[in-house]
Amino acid sequence: MIKGLIKEKPEGIVAKAYIFAEKKHAGQKRKTGEPYFNHLVAAATQLLKWGLDEETVAAGLLHDVLEDTKTTEEEVKKEFGEKITELVLGVSKIGRVKYRGEEAQAELLRKMMLSLTSDVRTVLVKLADRLHNMKTLGALPAQKQKRIALETAEIYAPLAYRLGMRELSGELEDLAFPFIDPRNYEMILELVKKYYGRREKYLEKVKPIIEDGLKNGGIGEFEISFRAKRYYSLYKKLKRNEMNIENIYDLIAFRIIVPTVEKCYAALGIIHSLWPPVPGRIKDYIATPKPNGYKSLHTTVFCLDGIITEFQVRTREMHEEAEEGIAAHWIYKREGKISGEKFKNLEEFSKETEWIKKMQKWKENFKDASGFINAIKSDFFKERIYVITPKGKVIDLPSQATPIDFAYKVHSLLGHETSGAKVNGKIAPLNIKLNSGDIVEILRQKGKKPSEDWLGFVKTQSAKDHIKYMLNKKKGIKNKF
Ligand code: MN
Repeated sequence: MIKGLIKEKPEGIVAKAYIFAEKKHAGQKRKTGEPYFNHLVAAATQLLKWGLDEETVAAGLLHDVLEDTKTTEEEVKKEFGEKITELVLGVSKIGRVKYRGEEAQAELLRKMMLSLTSDVRTVLVKLADRLHNMKTLGALPAQKQKRIALETAEIYAPLAYRLGMRELSGELEDLAFPFIDPRNYEMILELVKKYYGRREKYLEKVKPIIEDGLKNGGIGEFEISFRAKRYYSLYKKLKRNEMNIENIYDLIAFRIIVPTVEKCYAALGIIHSLWPPVPGRIKDYIATPKPNGYKSLHTTVFCLDGIITEFQVRTREMHEEAEEGIAAHWIYKREGKISGEKFKNLEEFSKETEWIKKMQKWKENFKDASGFINAIKSDFFKERIYVITPKGKVIDLPSQATPIDFAYKVHSLLGHETSGAKVNGKIAPLNIKLNSGDIVEILRQKGKKPSEDWLGFVKTQSAKDHIKYMLNKKKGIKNKF
């Protein structure tokens, strides 16, 4: 793959990085005995597979030159420019953050890794690096294996998940699992051997029935596949379900891909007309996507012979974004396919990954790192809730957010002028904790200023910043930003 790109552009930045890295790492060997350079080609190839741009692929080839060879920062800067140097430096910085198994630290470490760089591509290079290291982990001494595997499962896999890269997140977890907990890994393998075959035979029997239903229901083009649950994710779910595999309904789930959003809902209707849904298990992640941008309709039905079975319905775009997450963003750009429809998706996607942009913006506001980390601590990676405006727009907020947070999220002026709030049609106190699904209406009084009391209960950093800004202004204190 890399070779193809180099042939295509022999004068390009990737070709140059390839030659540079090969020379710098000459003679170095990995623990597996193969040339060190192979690791760099593997990482760069992975980045290319994710559809990343040439700068990032070049950074993949160069990601270890500063740490593992005598190359200086100045040399990389001279040869490859500011941007690539920044990416390579960022990867080294992230690599210095080490997880030592304290669970309370995991969350903080993930945030820190993101805070160490202003360019999210750095994290992607690090993830490509880690993926290849995990694939070759067997060659390391046992103690190191366990530390790295744990770090992968606790830090890197959730980080990938947070970036919407579910495929990668699952792969990293499954690579780490046998090193973290070999006994339970073996147990899961045995269990899966026994159950998957049986489930697969059953789904083969169900498949023609859905196919007929979708055809007769006018869905047109569609694709039906099974998706087996990954091992580590199955193990985690089993632990939550008293280790009873009979309670895991999505052991293998049906995945149906249809052309449009409308047809997603139509297909869901067809499934429900074939088999009754299990109450409380219909999830509409299209209307309210998961915080990492995941979109799909999920339902669990009493399927053929009364066997409980999960279905996931989505469009092709949703599918690609669900598997590749943030990387899908670059694929669209790289292939130059920014046609009307794709562009809409790109915009939607960047809206969903708003937190990345927001984080970058915030970082500029906080000169010292501790302030920045405290700020993200209060906002990111916590449970999100989804509340609705009277016009039906969904607003994404951290859990325990109040009507004031809501108002500021809609518009800063609305926040300032809030005089009261209605939640689900009833007047509610301004410090009430909102829940997902609440309909929130803000009562507004023109020219009103925020009250100092609000600082005592608002949850979002942005509401705090806006309130403080106005209060300072009122007191005649000059604001810093
Ligand atoms: Mn490396």
